[in-house]
Amino acid sequence: LFVSKMKLKLAIQKSGRLHDDSIKLLKECGIDINNGVNKLKTEASNFPLEVFFLRDDDIPQYIEDGVADIGIVGENVVLEKKKQVDIVEKLGFGKCRLSMAVPKSMEYNSVEDLQNTRIATSYPIIVNEFLRKNNIKAEIHEISGSVEIAPGIGLADGICDLVSSGSTLFMNGLKEVETVLKSEAVLAAFKSIQPAQSKLLDKLLFRIQAVKKAKN
Ligand code: ATP
Ligand code: ZN
Repeated sequence: LFVSKMKLKLAIQKSGRLHDDSIKLLKECGIDINNGVNKLKTEASNFPLEVFFLRDDDIPQYIEDGVADIGIVGENVVLEKKKQVDIVEKLGFGKCRLSMAVPKSMEYNSVEDLQNTRIATSYPIIVNEFLRKNNIKAEIHEISGSVEIAPGIGLADGICDLVSSGSTLFMNGLKEVETVLKSEAVLAAFKSIQPAQSKLLDKLLFRIQAVKKAKN
């Protein structure tokens, strides 16, 4: 009786680049939710699923804390947050890359040119790892938004930010010089997910994989 009432708690982005495709994926999986953009949560009518609408950056923490069991979030966010969260499945949307960019006028031949520079980014953990792997000593300036303006205002020599078309970089007089990470939306789950939730996750995953197969 308890088990039949058990629900899987899924966190998706409240609004932004991943929101619409996350809802669309659930629909394609045959899961009906009343689209409540202004609500905190909603329930599926035909699957034991509760959907929470959250800021993407907060999703790994909410999963670790048990507020949600699983989430749909960019791989970039999962890797940056370093929470108790596993990547279960890549979802094929939200594709972008985390790239280093420098002013167009700067001579750039290799990663060595980043030596002793100041780099502005919202991804200090991933950038630090990249610099360490490449034996580059650079100063990381963590800023939460509008990273691309940092070189123009003299805050940094270069940036590391998410790019899809590159037009934002171009408009800010920057050129992309290194790809640090290729990212897309993923289904992420708590590392120690309970058996009952895990069973529901397998059901959902089975549907997601069928949707992906049908598209290929
Ligand atoms: P929130 O209000 O939820 O914090 P946000 O502004 O941080 O939203 P979005 O800009 O909506 O986030 O991006 C969400 C995710 O979309 C990113 O973490 C990334 O995985 C993916 N993405 C795809 N293309 C891009 C892009 N060009 N720029 C930024 N993110 C992108
Ligand atoms: Zn965010």
